[in-house]
Amino acid sequence: MKPSFHPKLINDSFSDPGLFIPFLFEKRALLFDLGDLSKLSARDLLKISHVFVTHTHMDHFIGFDALLRLLLGRDKEVYLFGPSDFIQKVEAKLSSYTWNLIENYENTLSIHVTEIKREKILKQRYNSRDRFKPTGAPEELPFAGNILSEEHFSVNAVILDHKIDCIGLSLIENFSINITKEGLKELGLQVGPWLREFKKAIYGGGNSKQNFQVVWQDKDKVIREKDFILSDLKEKIAMISPGQKITYIADIIGSPENIKKAVDLAQDSNILFIEAAFLDKDKDMAQRKYHLTAREAGLVARKARVKKMTPFHFSPRYFGQEKELIQEAMTAFRSGT
Ligand SMILES: [Zn+2]
Ligand SMILES: [Zn+2]
Repeated sequence: MKPSFHPKLINDSFSDPGLFIPFLFEKRALLFDLGDLSKLSARDLLKISHVFVTHTHMDHFIGFDALLRLLLGRDKEVYLFGPSDFIQKVEAKLSSYTWNLIENYENTLSIHVTEIKREKILKQRYNSRDRFKPTGAPEELPFAGNILSEEHFSVNAVILDHKIDCIGLSLIENFSINITKEGLKELGLQVGPWLREFKKAIYGGGNSKQNFQVVWQDKDKVIREKDFILSDLKEKIAMISPGQKITYIADIIGSPENIKKAVDLAQDSNILFIEAAFLDKDKDMAQRKYHLTAREAGLVARKARVKKMTPFHFSPRYFGQEKELIQEAMTAFRSGT
């Protein structure tokens, strides 16, 4: 079974945090946290449509400039999400540059910013044609956990405590479509680009009685085609299974309230990326700095019954002790100790 999202941490666990989540069948990606992006190619950066910034400590937000630099001069819409004061932080970044020539550019870059507060969401827009000045007063919407909903996935957020607001994030795929080899064989079909169109048609949720034409090239390079009713084809070759859930929790203190919220957010995730900044023997320091220990991270993963946990964002004081941090988190995850 191939999941539709393939998340990968951009940097090693001692460097800036950030999760790059490319889509399997589209030239598109999501980004959780906006730290040092230098390890991502321009090709990958250009796939990013939505960026979710957990909080604006420098290690989580310094990549803003690199992304903006690359997107400038292109026709592009990019969506940024962040916690309280995020609109002001983005505006401060944008207003620190001089934009006197930008209205002459042929292309328009639009930046849509969503600020997540405890009970509401604020939305603001900026575009290069207006020298990135805000377009009127921000739009206000209620906030009840969901911050993005698309055809086949959604993103949920919860506000956690890091002495400032820090948002925890879950990406939830609605369902995934897996193609069965037996089904293809039975119908005499071969894999090819048509499968992508087929999946698109199913994700689109339109009329299942519509015609769907399968076109492929056989071994002798002859183009072949066959017509189906979409729902019949789906029944023969597709297995629909629940989608993946990917949760990302960065800087938070291990308070009972935070732990409960983190566990609720991460519940039954296929994979949980969670900060494990300190060893549990240095718990006092972790508390003072509003971070989790590796043990606390492992316990969150265990309570949330996640299938896989990836601890990350280690304090630089543990250089060379990566194994200890991972081991402490894994022991807590597996045995609850
Ligand atoms: Zn932080
Ligand atoms: Zn951090």
